[in-house]
Amino acid sequence: MKPMGPIPPWFAAEEGMLLIGGCGAASLVDEAGDMPLFVYDMGIVEAQVRRFRDAMPPALHLHYAIKANPHAPLLARMAGLVGGFDVASGGEVELALDAGMAPDRISFAGPGKRDDELSAAIFAGVTINLESEGEGARALRIAEKLGRTPRLAVRVNPDFDLKGSGMRMGGGAKPFGVDADRAAALARAMIDAGADWRGWHIFAGSQNLDPMAIIETQAATIALAARLSDAVGMAPPLVNLGGGFGLAYFPGDMALDIRPIGVALDSALESLPDILKDGQFAIELGRWLVGEAGVYLTRVIDVKVSQGETFVVVDGGLHHQLAASGNFGTVVRRNYPIAIANHFGAPPADQPVTVVGCLCTPIDRLGDKVALPPVAPGDLVAIFLAGAYGASASPSAFLGHPPARQLLLG
Ligand SMILES: *Cc1c(COP(=O)(O)O)cnc(C)c1O
Repeated sequence: MKPMGPIPPWFAAEEGMLLIGGCGAASLVDEAGDMPLFVYDMGIVEAQVRRFRDAMPPALHLHYAIKANPHAPLLARMAGLVGGFDVASGGEVELALDAGMAPDRISFAGPGKRDDELSAAIFAGVTINLESEGEGARALRIAEKLGRTPRLAVRVNPDFDLKGSGMRMGGGAKPFGVDADRAAALARAMIDAGADWRGWHIFAGSQNLDPMAIIETQAATIALAARLSDAVGMAPPLVNLGGGFGLAYFPGDMALDIRPIGVALDSALESLPDILKDGQFAIELGRWLVGEAGVYLTRVIDVKVSQGETFVVVDGGLHHQLAASGNFGTVVRRNYPIAIANHFGAPPADQPVTVVGCLCTPIDRLGDKVALPPVAPGDLVAIFLAGAYGASASPSAFLGHPPARQLLLG
């Protein structure tokens, strides 16, 4: 048997049926019409936003990085819950605007923005987080052609990283942002060219469960923003401190306690370097806001034995929920939390089973030698932590199965 990650604390059962947002999993499948199915519970998202607000300084803005889950009905709800959207493509700019987010609360990062994407974003009044000097020059040229004053921030590749992150996105040679030692010169050039300078975007890492590492990185980020702003000679309207709040996906992971981060930020914002005193600060979060709110439901098609090992074959797979198969940014495959939704909480069978998707490839493994109650065809398998980097981050065209349905609750 191999262990699985912890089931998030929001879920319970009624007469053995997993409840999501107070509704039984089987009736949610009926409501959606079919499965495989992603269910997102807005109640959990709202609870996470409340936790953030309770822990963080009131002046700190919360942004949502929409690539974590760009499901349109969810975005429309998020637009009323957070102070801004961070997007990373022209398509996401459109999704953010369609969701009702004001253009001046949208910022657009991403290392390869095409001219047409820059053009649409500048025309709409979205802030561009510049990732290079070349992009800065293109943004100015495009803005001039449009007769607009572009709103420009500079994304900095910091000279440090967020220790222990699942995905490193700063420190060392990176395709993201402009190296810290050239960032002030780029900002100065944009200001001199007449751009509306919006400040700094400094994102040092993702999926972190260590509050001390996050606290240290935020302190270093504020110090860097002050140093760069002094070099520019102008106070930044906004410093985006990045994010990095992680989730407990795997065996042994402990949920991130954000309270000490809030305490540290409180005192950091109380004693800011002079040049940052009048500026705004934001944190951008993706998975931490929405990840636990999602459950992926898929039905057992077959249970078969090969050389003594039992395989539970389901009608979903990595084409919907790539991350649970261990093929989305993890080095070693480990088990996401998984359960039989219609026998939730029942004691495990004597032998572990391996849950595989329906794709004809050995990498479509959703649960490796996991302890589950006795399973039969027709049972519903629930995979937790499916609210972020699920449906939109999986290769849905691979092998020609239909896409998963998505249902938003609450
Ligand atoms: C992906 C990304 C995020 C969101 O990361 P999470 O780990 O989902 O919180 C935030 N900011 C930037 C710049 C990103 O690229």
